[in-house]
Amino acid sequence: MSDCIFCKIAAGEIPATVVYEDELVIAFDDVSPQMPVHTLIVPKEHYRDIGDGIPDALMGHLFNTVKKVAELKGVASSGYRVIVNTGDDACQTVHHVHVHVLGGAPMNSGSPAL
Ligand code: AMP
Ligand code: ZN
Repeated sequence: MSDCIFCKIAAGEIPATVVYEDELVIAFDDVSPQMPVHTLIVPKEHYRDIGDGIPDALMGHLFNTVKKVAELKGVASSGYRVIVNTGDDACQTVHHVHVHVLGGAPMNSGSPAL
């Protein structure tokens, strides 16, 4: 998608602080972090949201990348939260599916508010 900001990050066309990258996914720090650790993982191929027909193998790879990112960001043992905002009621603002990985400090049941 030519006007998608996460497609542009995946293509290296706009800068991001890349945490992890392989042939299928890229993980980069959120530009507006809601926690000390706030990293986004996205498939390099464009899918609108988690309900957009992502193949099982890619979905599995996307979510298995969470553990790698948590380790790289130093929150694997302390704990972290994984959020996938989907659609209007969830306030999805970037319509390229992305997994938020949040951590680095204790959270309560209602925070962070994304
Ligand atoms: P969501 O509300 O789930 O769609 O989250 C979109 C996230 O993308 C927000 O947390 C934004 O801060 C983040 N974001 C938007 N543009 C960029 C960017 N260029 N680089 C990194 N993160 C971004
Ligand atoms: Zn995209």
